[in-house]
Amino acid sequence: MEVFMAKYGEIALKGNNKRFFEERMVKNIKRRLAAPLSNGAILGEFTYERAQSTLYITPRSADTDFNEIERRLLTVFGIGAVQRSLALPKDYAEIVRLGVPYLEKALRGAKTFKVEAKRADKTFPMNSMELMREFGGEIWEAYQNRDRPPEVDLHNPDVTVYLEIRDTHAYLCPNRLQGAGGIPVGMSGKALVLLSGGIDSPVAAYMMAKRGMSLDMLHFQSPPYTSERALMKVESLCEKLAEYCGEINLFCVNLTEAQEDIRDNAPEEYMTVLLRRAMFKAAASLCGHRHYCAIITGESVGQVASQTPAAIICTDDASPLPVYRPVIGMDKIEITATARKIGTFDISTLPYEDCCTVFTPRRPKLKPFLSDVLKLETRLNSSLIQKAVENITVKTF
Ligand code: ATP
Ligand code: MG
Repeated sequence: MEVFMAKYGEIALKGNNKRFFEERMVKNIKRRLAAPLSNGAILGEFTYERAQSTLYITPRSADTDFNEIERRLLTVFGIGAVQRSLALPKDYAEIVRLGVPYLEKALRGAKTFKVEAKRADKTFPMNSMELMREFGGEIWEAYQNRDRPPEVDLHNPDVTVYLEIRDTHAYLCPNRLQGAGGIPVGMSGKALVLLSGGIDSPVAAYMMAKRGMSLDMLHFQSPPYTSERALMKVESLCEKLAEYCGEINLFCVNLTEAQEDIRDNAPEEYMTVLLRRAMFKAAASLCGHRHYCAIITGESVGQVASQTPAAIICTDDASPLPVYRPVIGMDKIEITATARKIGTFDISTLPYEDCCTVFTPRRPKLKPFLSDVLKLETRLNSSLIQKAVENITVKTF
């Protein structure tokens, strides 16, 4: 019988609070596995068991799509490793009889392998070292009459076979995958992400969800300067991010009038910083109603004019809530690598127009002074931001 082992990551270190983290992770896993497939059908039914810092997930039917289970488990924060394993009786002869053929597929094409054994149940008659040596020998032996039998390499093997003797069974896994890590979503409060259609803000969202935050998204549009296409793109990003973050509300605010007000009544070089302040004010006002504990953005120091330290002082001032900027110290290559890993990159790079790129000043002020910005802001009609927030739309993913 094949089972999935979801091994705890950071949660295992949580001491007295471990139970709460564990319960949340199990809940998130169940929710993720219950999400319908693209044809509307369910993935399957499962039994769940917890023991030894591991959640055992057993599909009730052998027909279940195991690759899809694996793919989904890899998106759940809190899981340190995912192991698709064969559960075997705790009898060495049986482990060899059933286990060696099970490894056939994983070892096909491998030049080298090693066995890592762990005996959690100390009553098992062979210790870890003996298991590694003996079971490794059995595998080696079984392949000797093949074309190119795999050799043992203890340092850098193509395949590491994990054999674990636990409470009720022995588990054999030739492919341990690194889990999403982090803390289960829902353990660290709720925050509002300013989500553009770019590369950075989806990565910022992912990083904070990984720290256990539940997230909602706020997107600003400026029709007719921005199109439906830009909105559809942000919706696709939410769909993708919901795989990691759980349920997401996407709020959309129309900033056209506020932006035209800035264009018509403020010096061109200050347009960027004033727009950013308008965004933060709109976000803060939404936060006031919905009890978020932070605003999250995809800003990275020095990336563009609105992200110089001086500009960040001016935008920060517009938010009464803390602003989390998880990619602040990452360069574009690092952010892009994460975007590719989590599957947002191909969506983010579809062509679109962002409200930030509408009325872009030729020379934005790189070192704006907060006192100058506040003075200029008195020329603007602040009720336009309030009005925009009152006409907010929401869609749930
Ligand atoms: P990104 O790739 O996230 O768009 P960027 O390099 O284009 O980042 P800016 O356009 O200066 O940077 O935006 C900085 C941050 O401001 C974004 O990461 C996002 O959090 C927020 N932001 C920008 N435009 C919007 C928008 N239209 N709606 C919501 N938030 C936005
Ligand atoms: Mg952007």
